[in-house]
Amino acid sequence: LSAVPDPAPRLGIVGGGQLGRMIALAAAPLGVRCTFVDPSPEAGARVAARQIVAEYDDVAALEELASVSDVITFEFENVSAPALAAIEAVADLAPSPRSLQVSQDRLSEKQLFHSLGIACAPYREVDSLADLEAAAADLGGRGILKTRRFGYDGKGQARLGGRGDAAAAWSTVGEAPSVLEGLVDFDRELSVVAVRSSTGETAVYPLAENVHRDGILRTSTAPAPGTDNDLAAHADDYATRIMDELEHVGVLALELFEAGGELIANEIAPRVHNSGHWTQNGAPTSQFENHVRAVLGLPLGNTRPAVSTTMVNLIGGVPDPATVLDVPSAHLHLYDKEPRPGRKVGHVNVTDPAGIAEIVELAETAAR
Ligand code: AMP
Repeated sequence: LSAVPDPAPRLGIVGGGQLGRMIALAAAPLGVRCTFVDPSPEAGARVAARQIVAEYDDVAALEELASVSDVITFEFENVSAPALAAIEAVADLAPSPRSLQVSQDRLSEKQLFHSLGIACAPYREVDSLADLEAAAADLGGRGILKTRRFGYDGKGQARLGGRGDAAAAWSTVGEAPSVLEGLVDFDRELSVVAVRSSTGETAVYPLAENVHRDGILRTSTAPAPGTDNDLAAHADDYATRIMDELEHVGVLALELFEAGGELIANEIAPRVHNSGHWTQNGAPTSQFENHVRAVLGLPLGNTRPAVSTTMVNLIGGVPDPATVLDVPSAHLHLYDKEPRPGRKVGHVNVTDPAGIAEIVELAETAAR
C-alpha cells in the first residue's frame, strides 16, 4: 500500500515566506511534495516543505530545485532576469517568465491594461526630474511617482500635491525609470483573485474590498459589500482576459479602484495574494489549493463562497491565540515570523460579521 501516488507530484517554490508556507500547507493534502529555495534558515515554509538554503537568484540552487521538481512556482514576482533565464532552460515554470516580467514593471502592466481596453490611471514615463516636472504639469500638478520596478506595500512611491513637490518627490523615490500616475479619486479599493490552470481552465473569486493604512493592507472583505452584478462581471472579465493574454498559469490578483461605479486597474500580482487569504476559510477551495491545482494541471476547485469573510492582517504583533480563537468564527493563521513594526506576522479570517470588531481591536492592541 502506498499513501500517495507514486511518483507523487513534486512542486518547487521560489521563496519560503508566508506565501510559500501556505502554498506548501495546501499542497500536502493533495499528496504533492514541496521543496523551496529561501536564504533564511528560519523560513516559515519549513513546516511543510524541504528547504534549499540559498539566495533566490542562486542559479546552482535553482537548478537543484529544478532537479527535484516537476514544476517550479514563485511566491513573489521580483525574480532576476538572469535567474529566470537559467531555470527556464531546465524546468517548467508556472507562471511563465512573461507573466513575471510584465508584473515586475509598472509600465508594462499599464501597456497590457491599455491593449485590453481596461481603464487605468493616466500616466507618464519619467526618467529624470525634468521629465517629472513636465509630466506633473501635464497631469494637473498632482500625482503619485512610482518606480517602475521593485515597489511593494507603498514603497518606492512619493505623492505630488502640487507643482512645487516635484524635486522633493524625485529625491525621495530618486530612481529612473519611474512613472507618474494621475491621482484616482476612488470610492474604495477592490481586488479580484483569479486562477488559470495549465490546461487553460479558469476560475475567479468574488471581488474583495481592501482597506490599506500606511500603504499596508489591513483588512479584506469578500464578497465586497454592496457590489452590483455589473461590477462583478467586469472584474471577472478583466481578470480572465489578463490571464488568457499572458497565458498565465496559477493564481493572479488584479488590484482595482472603484470610482463613480467604474473599475480602474492599479496593478497585477502574478501569484497568491494577501487580499485572497480570506479564501482559506471563506471559499470552498482556497487560493493556495487552487494555485497548486493550476500549476500541476489538476481540475480547479469551486471559488464561489457561501458566506462573507473578513481577513484581518496581524502586523507587528501577535495577539494571544486563545483570545483570538475564543471569538466564534475566527480562524488564526500565523507565519512563524519574528514580530517587528510594520511586518506581517499572520492574519485572522472571520466568517461571522459579529466577530470582526473584536479581532480588529485585538490586532491593533498587539501591534502596539
Ligand atoms: P500600489 O503600490 O500601486 O498598490 O499603491 C499603494 C497604495 O497607494 C494603493 O493601495 C492606493 O491606496 C494608493 N494609490 C496608488 N496609486 C494611486 C493612484 N493613482 N491614485 C490614488 N491612490 C493611489
